[in-house]
Amino acid sequence: MLLKALKRDKANLFLSGIFNVETGGMSVRTERFNKSTDDFTGAFRECKKCSSMDENVVFFSTCSKCLKSKENYFWLHAGDGDGVYAVFDILKTNKKHEEATCIGFMTVLFPTDEFAKPIVEHAVGNALGSPSPLKAFGFTVDLLEEFNDVAAFKSFEITRFKLEEESVFISDAEAQIDTSYAVVRVAPSSPDPVEWTMLAFSEPVGEQLGLYPNDVNPRPRILIGMDSAWLAQNGIEASMKTPEGKEAFEDWAVSGVTSCHISPMSDVAIWFNYKINEAMEKLNYAASWLLQGAIHGDSDCINELSKYSDKISDPDWVTTWAGQRLQHNFADTFKRKKKLPFVVPEASTFDQAHEGEQVTELMDVCDILSSLYSEYREDERFEEFISFNDIGLPLAYMVSSELCELTEEGVRYIKETWKLFLEELGVPDDGYEDLESLLETAES
Ligand SMILES: [Zn+2]
Repeated sequence: MLLKALKRDKANLFLSGIFNVETGGMSVRTERFNKSTDDFTGAFRECKKCSSMDENVVFFSTCSKCLKSKENYFWLHAGDGDGVYAVFDILKTNKKHEEATCIGFMTVLFPTDEFAKPIVEHAVGNALGSPSPLKAFGFTVDLLEEFNDVAAFKSFEITRFKLEEESVFISDAEAQIDTSYAVVRVAPSSPDPVEWTMLAFSEPVGEQLGLYPNDVNPRPRILIGMDSAWLAQNGIEASMKTPEGKEAFEDWAVSGVTSCHISPMSDVAIWFNYKINEAMEKLNYAASWLLQGAIHGDSDCINELSKYSDKISDPDWVTTWAGQRLQHNFADTFKRKKKLPFVVPEASTFDQAHEGEQVTELMDVCDILSSLYSEYREDERFEEFISFNDIGLPLAYMVSSELCELTEEGVRYIKETWKLFLEELGVPDDGYEDLESLLETAES
């Protein structure tokens, strides 16, 4: 019913991030004022007074020190226990303004290899070299129907959050500083706070996937936080009673722990988040995920940071973006010592030369080559160049006119043609935005 309503409303899913679960449980929390740190960064600074998962208490933890409560925090056993899970913004496009508003989020708790991994790889692959990489991260709700009979899932309500313009963090139940989390930004349609209802969906009892087909308690496979007013308008309410009590807790706790992965999944989650942001060309975010991985000693992240030496050699960038990744302890130490606790290998000379050649954005390169191809075909100065580059130029024209999307192979042709064109003009790549400015530079 929910899927139908989302389709009817032309709502889409946008892959916004990945989080990892190491404790068998996941949590959802809002930004909240934390009395023990005296600021709003408190959501991720677990306090000494409380535990994220109180024994024998399902979903909630209340604390007078850090102000955890039903209104800003809950945990839930995550599908098959530990793993890496994808989070989507649920976006509704407003026809009048053609703007998308976020009316909720969805987390899909299917096993990592079956869901999160193929989705991320698919999106990153499609975004690569695409003129509009963001499009690759959008999905229709049909996506879910490929994964067993989700329409038959039963739902129960966990709690409701009142939200102003703030962030909702989705992460492991026990948020640590090295936890990967996904963030959903709430955009209320009115000046009043909006209310989001948290609904968990599971297979009908007795038909569950995974290691424990005979579990009697529902194991959440999909978690949705959704604008309560929207749910009411569409007549959607929970179909089951909310499970509570010791039995549900123990059963879930056992399956959560036994289906744990042996090795931590945080590195995988960090890597996926890095890849997603890089493919979206959000390079500050991409580099900041690598920074988080590097701070916690992941050698792949440290090596990959050599691509971002311009950023990590800037102390202000490091402090700002470590803060963005909630690495407050690291940021504090770095501010004093101005020294990274790891050594980033220097980018190879090939990479440096390569980067130096390609400072104009790929989409601008396509537009410039496209203008050359369509407007200067009769110009004898470029006659030879145009007839020689009979693949790269038409390809750039097609991409620029949105007649086709670029493959990895295509990107190579375009880059090669671009290199030859700059050599022809005898100018370095200084980041051009259009053909006129490039020709002006060449003439001066
Ligand atoms: Zn507390």
